[in-house]
Amino acid sequence: MRIRVDGRIHEVSGEHLLLPLLRRLGCDVPSLCHDPRLAPQPACRLCVVEVGGVAHPVPACATAVEDGMEVRTRSPELEAHRRVTLELLARRQPADALRDPAASELARLVGAYGLADAARGGADAPPVDDAHPYIHVDMGRCIDCYRCVRICDGLQGQFVWRAWERGDRTVIRPDSGTTLLASSCVACGACVTACPSGALQDQSVREHGVPTRLTRTVCPYCGVGCELEVGTRDGRIVQALPAMDAAVNKGHLCVKGRYAFDFVAAGDRLTTPLLRTDAGWRAVAWPEAIAVTAARLRAIVDRHGADAVGVLGSARATNEENYVAQKFARVALGTNNVDCCARVCHAPSAAALADVFGTGAATSAFDDIELARTILVCGANASEGHPVIGARIRQRALAGANLIVIDPRRIELARVPGALHLPLHPGANVPVLNALACAIVEAGLVDAAFLRARVDGWEDFRAHVLRFRPEDVGPAAGVAPALLREAARRYAADTPAIAFHGLGMTEHVQGTDAVIALANLALLTGNVGRPGSGVNPLRGQNNVQGSAHMGCEPALLTGSARLAEAAPRFAAAWGAPLPTRPGLRLPGMMDAAARGELKALWAMGYDVLPTNPDVAASHRSLAALELLVVQDIFLNETARAYAHVVLPSACSFEKDGTFMNAERRIQRVRQVLPPPGEARPDWAPLCDVARALGRGDGFGFASAAAIWEEVRAVWPAGRGITYERLEGGGLQWPCPDTAHPGTARLHGESFTAGPRAALRCIEHRPSPEETSADYPLLLVTGRSLYHFNAGTMTMRTPNRVLRPGDRLDISPPDAARYGLAEGDRVRIASRYGSTTLPLHIDDAPREGELFATFNEPATWVNLLTGPHRDRRTDTPEYKRTAVRISKA
Ligand code: SF4
Repeated sequence: MRIRVDGRIHEVSGEHLLLPLLRRLGCDVPSLCHDPRLAPQPACRLCVVEVGGVAHPVPACATAVEDGMEVRTRSPELEAHRRVTLELLARRQPADALRDPAASELARLVGAYGLADAARGGADAPPVDDAHPYIHVDMGRCIDCYRCVRICDGLQGQFVWRAWERGDRTVIRPDSGTTLLASSCVACGACVTACPSGALQDQSVREHGVPTRLTRTVCPYCGVGCELEVGTRDGRIVQALPAMDAAVNKGHLCVKGRYAFDFVAAGDRLTTPLLRTDAGWRAVAWPEAIAVTAARLRAIVDRHGADAVGVLGSARATNEENYVAQKFARVALGTNNVDCCARVCHAPSAAALADVFGTGAATSAFDDIELARTILVCGANASEGHPVIGARIRQRALAGANLIVIDPRRIELARVPGALHLPLHPGANVPVLNALACAIVEAGLVDAAFLRARVDGWEDFRAHVLRFRPEDVGPAAGVAPALLREAARRYAADTPAIAFHGLGMTEHVQGTDAVIALANLALLTGNVGRPGSGVNPLRGQNNVQGSAHMGCEPALLTGSARLAEAAPRFAAAWGAPLPTRPGLRLPGMMDAAARGELKALWAMGYDVLPTNPDVAASHRSLAALELLVVQDIFLNETARAYAHVVLPSACSFEKDGTFMNAERRIQRVRQVLPPPGEARPDWAPLCDVARALGRGDGFGFASAAAIWEEVRAVWPAGRGITYERLEGGGLQWPCPDTAHPGTARLHGESFTAGPRAALRCIEHRPSPEETSADYPLLLVTGRSLYHFNAGTMTMRTPNRVLRPGDRLDISPPDAARYGLAEGDRVRIASRYGSTTLPLHIDDAPREGELFATFNEPATWVNLLTGPHRDRRTDTPEYKRTAVRISKA
């Protein structure tokens, strides 16, 4: 298209509306109500422009671009109109609102029009609401643009901000009618980024000032991988804003990414290496810490062999650090005893998806959410665990897509209007998914053409799943047969359908089986490999996909290459022989330590003690070690109790590298601040100790970039991903060469494993963890929105105000049965241990079932969870523990 703007002709394409186009062309057209994340709703009328052939000025934000258009943006009439409009807005403001042009969009505009002294308001302003730990509310500065209302509805879907009263008396307030803290706000901060007037402000900016520098990096929390613009001032982080053009979060964040950064400046950060002595911790310089660690490792290897040592990578460390950790284990020590926290979450997903499709990772991109007609969410409380994806799913459902939620609890997504909730009992995933397959087969809704073209095993599978009729399976699984049949119909008939699953699927003894049963549904209905479809694990921590993919797995090398086949290739690349003896997984390492066979453990960014199940068993294992080396940003619980050497780490805001999110996207992590004291990136001490062990060849890295170059050299599917290319945004692997655009969706024409995939006949093998007269209730553990894993980071932020700590959720009938009231402290005991938690009465859990978070080290919820593990991958069964409760 060709349009003329202020006399200049432009060839344009790609923009539908005039305002974003004018801004892209460099025209400074003002607006206060426009937000690129929302559909236009002209209110301020500052963006009016003159269009040739149109009698009156039109709002550019709501006017479509047309070929041949003639647009004037700055006529004297337009400027006079804008000036009058701005003056009316300025008059209502308190005097101090407009003094600093950096304070708000309104202050900048008013200043540009010479109206900073026009403010006359403030006398009858509503009271300031300063109760919220993150958001300051001063509705005396509101200009009625409704951006806060619209962004809360249209981006987050929380519907917190509302217009109260009528006419001249209209005022915007939260749904509580009182303070924001008392409302249903989830503190995503979208309203603050949208507010142009300063009515809503970040408390941190008010306290420390506006940032003087912005650095783009990736959120340190969950596997969604939201990109941030981190604002710093005077050597501290004062603000974290969403990157507006980010591929994943598209200008949105959750409370953790947006606000939970105060842990970086916490006074108890580790700043120097520590050695445990009889008199307590002794701070030492790095050379001594490296020498002591190397000497003790060498002595253990000499006496007991390399397999007496284990190394744990970390889902919170970068790809580069995890790559070095597994290379350190294999080359510097000579053992395949290397694992990471993927073991305790999504190892079953990786195993199942690799089995069925050939690649153990998400089949699709998050952008497939908006292309799906049906979204199936299994065992994933996305609104709390992966909130930005939870919001995207909710918005898609509100726009008309089917939403099916398979979860024991009535989680937030199950409450979305129109959602179908299948409230299965914990551990019933396999029968429920097989029953859906049965219902699809019986209703004749299989994709016969897809099956013929790309799927094997149909006849056997058909006979198998017909044994799982909803009417037979549903009652025992806890789901009404009619619900199962309706869910099956929507998933199979209203396509494309996409599935997301979480730890409610994988953290069971049937974890791998359940993911295979889910993949069966996708094969049966052709819901894989095409836009809006797929099977996608929602990864818990920011780099859990990357830590495993870099080779922190006993039987897999970088790029998930099988050790047995790829060892010669890696030996050639590394110039060193690789151990070929099978390595131990984390649970195996813990068992071996308890037996006295594993003598040393190096845990990089992994607080094993509170996060592993059956804490009593973990105590026995860790206590038996001769050497425990812990790298972390704080003296975590594992280090405090058992470490011999503690090495201070830089957090992700303090180093360079890359993370890999849940949709296989590699994104750049950039240093925002220097690390405190002597803290260093985790790869650096590993290289130092390798050198001290006399295995320095191959560990001479000078930077994260140098490590990444080696990763590219040994990982064919990542060869095209360079740091230079990542400057333009993340890339999803496979990306085999530097001209390749990356792969948003796998298995389009054929599967990674070959042209055809096979349906698998999955039997249900129940958990040995059963209720009894002594332990009559079933406990499920999980996350809350405000806290993250062992709470190491979020418990050192004002998120503690929003959720003070762990709690036990119980249904109203069970609370009445046990004579318990809201807030009571409740003793909860399993066959493995006991703890005490405050009680919350909630309609989310079913009768007979309880839910507890595990984010607070002080409560040790994992004292309760037991020894059962997924049969294929050893992933612990966190999601089903028989317990009893009593008032404490
Ligand atoms: Fe960070 Fe996940 Fe929240 Fe995004 S959704 S801001 S990645 S915690």
